[in-house]
Amino acid sequence: MGTGDRGPYDVSAAVLVSVEIFFDFLFRIKKEYVILKKRDCIEINFLIFSGCMRRVINMEEEQQKESIDNEKEAQRKKKLIVSALVIGVMIPWVLCAVLFVRTADLRKNLKTARGEKQELSSQIEELEESIQKQEEKITQMTQQISEYETRLETELQAEIAGIQEQLEAENQKTTHKVYLTFDDGPSKNTNEILDILKKYNVKATFFVLGKPGKENEAALKRIVEEGHSLGMHSYSHKYADIYASKESFAEDFQEIQSFLQDVTGVTSRLYRFPGGSSNTVSDVDIHELIGYLEEQGVVYYDWNVSSGDASSQELSEETIYQNCIAGIAGRSNSVVLLHDAVNKSTTVEALPKIIETLLKMDNVEILPITEDSEPVQHVKAEKSEN
Ligand SMILES: [Zn+2]
Repeated sequence: MGTGDRGPYDVSAAVLVSVEIFFDFLFRIKKEYVILKKRDCIEINFLIFSGCMRRVINMEEEQQKESIDNEKEAQRKKKLIVSALVIGVMIPWVLCAVLFVRTADLRKNLKTARGEKQELSSQIEELEESIQKQEEKITQMTQQISEYETRLETELQAEIAGIQEQLEAENQKTTHKVYLTFDDGPSKNTNEILDILKKYNVKATFFVLGKPGKENEAALKRIVEEGHSLGMHSYSHKYADIYASKESFAEDFQEIQSFLQDVTGVTSRLYRFPGGSSNTVSDVDIHELIGYLEEQGVVYYDWNVSSGDASSQELSEETIYQNCIAGIAGRSNSVVLLHDAVNKSTTVEALPKIIETLLKMDNVEILPITEDSEPVQHVKAEKSEN
């Protein structure tokens, strides 16, 4: 029926409609009754009336039930609206309150964080300052260390150099230098002497004479090739000619130097006076001849140990050996005089034993004479002693 659409509060309208329907009903009954009366069917009409009455009552009940339902629905909607209103108003408030509390907390936290940040910043600044100071200190210390190292290194180097010098000096003092020298060669013995020296790997000095000839020249070459020192001992070895005048000495000197140069390619700077610088046969003051040698850039060497083999009488191998060994005793610089001559075979025989004994000695070094070797000079020695 259309009454449900009229809204929950239109009860009076519903009543009015009911009344209207009721009167309409009565009107229709009356109309039916007239018709029935006309047809004389009152009994049937009564049944219709009863049916109509029941229908009207049913309609009323339905309408009452509907009205109660509507009221319930209205109440429910009212509750819903009120709840919606309550919820709609309360939720924002609650949210606002919560947000307010949260904001307050956050502000507080922010404030604390700012304070902490400031504190941290100042701590960082302090730390940075401290680091800078430490770095400066480190730089300073590094510089100091570097300076100290440099100073130490310099000092150490100086100290090491000093010690090395001392050691060298000490070594110079303790090492006994022995120079084996052979005069008057080359001879038929030269190669044998060279063989012995080679066998013991020992270098010696040969003060030679001007002796042209294939074998002699070959011997001279061998002397140079095998690392021995080549010295001059005059060209002729004739005292009367050499020491007659400075000029004759110079002439002889030039002759032997050129001869050796031609044969070996070596310009000798070592000289031994025939008979030594202390010879008594020279007609010229030996100092003049020494001066001449100095002018030529030549150093002269005498000897301080004599094997005795210069004697006209042939000495035994053992005597030559004994003379040499006894002669070097107590010295630190020994220039040993030996001869490379045809009649000096015992010298050759004594040589291996001499070398062996020298090699067995502590701190003894057998060396060839060079321009840097400490000179042994009779004349100068005699002069300094005077
Ligand atoms: Zn000689």
